Amino acid sequence: MKDKILGGIVGLAVGDALGVPVEFRDRRSLKDDPVTDMRGYGTYKQPPGTWSDDTSMTLCLLDSLANGLDYADIMKKFLSWYRDDAYTAHDKRFDIGGATRRALERFEQGIEPLQCGGASESDNGNGSLMRILPLAFYLRSLYRDEYTEHDESFDIIHNVSSLTHAHKRSMIACGIYLAVAERMFDGYHLRDGISSGITRALAHYEEDKIFTDESKGHYYRLGCQWKKFTDESGEEYCRVWKRFTDLRERDIKSSGYVVDTLEAALWCLLKTKSYKDCVLKAVNLGGDTDTVAALAGGLAGIYYGYDAIPKEWTEKIARFDYIEDLCDKLSTRVSAGDSKFSSDDLKIIQERFHELILKRAKPLKHFLADKNKRLPVISNEIFRRELWYTVPGMYGGFAYKLTEKEGKPLLTTDSWCRICGGSGQTHEITVDGCVLTEEGFV
Ligand SMILES: [Mg+2]
Repeated sequence: MKDKILGGIVGLAVGDALGVPVEFRDRRSLKDDPVTDMRGYGTYKQPPGTWSDDTSMTLCLLDSLANGLDYADIMKKFLSWYRDDAYTAHDKRFDIGGATRRALERFEQGIEPLQCGGASESDNGNGSLMRILPLAFYLRSLYRDEYTEHDESFDIIHNVSSLTHAHKRSMIACGIYLAVAERMFDGYHLRDGISSGITRALAHYEEDKIFTDESKGHYYRLGCQWKKFTDESGEEYCRVWKRFTDLRERDIKSSGYVVDTLEAALWCLLKTKSYKDCVLKAVNLGGDTDTVAALAGGLAGIYYGYDAIPKEWTEKIARFDYIEDLCDKLSTRVSAGDSKFSSDDLKIIQERFHELILKRAKPLKHFLADKNKRLPVISNEIFRRELWYTVPGMYGGFAYKLTEKEGKPLLTTDSWCRICGGSGQTHEITVDGCVLTEEGFV
């Protein structure tokens, strides 16, 4: 978890800092003069590595969540940034969004935290989306498994948005973003993870009728768009007409409007294969460069990992040690509740699982044995989460999931494989051995 927090938060700060010098530049002018490295000055006349309100407010939330979820405390920390320049790169705040400023001033007047955010159509800038990421780590530690399977997670996400942005459209953007963030943790292929996160969030909003119209009306491009066709016999049928992945750069706006920003960030993640390419693509879309790159960088930092963020950029980031300390603080808090099995126990289970795979995939024994490192690694990270291991070179594989039995790790695995004979066998593996619990068919 520590690496994911650092990857996500530093990934966000680096994206923000790359975008700050060219904020509001249009796409055409950036085509002639693309950002390829950490620049300084430009729009706000700040030195290289300076991050803006996106990172400041993210750090406020991060710091507050390290002590648990307390809406008033989050607002107090936002206020200390707004009024006293806390959580800033160079002890001086240099920008703030209109909706955020109005919400913080309401809080100063004694309004309850969850009543402070504006809820009108014009309050749909990206101001709550840009700072929501730390909540992913908190929710993951709270529910231990997939937090989007719990409706309360969406309630918490919406509340944290509504501190400054209480319109449903802004809340939904935060819900979709954090559903994708969840899929970036581990086990998913990038494209599958993005699409599965979006699908999960849209399904939630389809069920929650208060949000359905808003979600369908403004986030339809993120899902599959269906169209009616007529076949030769005159019969009508529906098929997928356009997917989000089909959208081209000219279809993507990168403005400060929450829907545009979310689409642009997810699109950059989809269209690139490294942290570096992802954030540079985001910045060079122009418009709200710092926020699009911060959001794309946060997800890319979780997915590719902290080590994938170029060192020459992190070295330039203002107050890097301070950001790292805050990440440590949250990581200590969220790891405390984790169910951690001893690495010795996990190692025994992993060896037994590998033996099982090798036994059941006899024809490929030499291949698999030689490529031992390609076999699944059992770690605490997969606790209560099912992963799928495809046996290289053959049709089928093993689904496996780590749970617990009397405080000890228990791996349940379903094999599904034609060549190794049979389908549907279920095994339970503990430190004491491997037991077949369901025969399946052969
Ligand atoms: Mg900014």
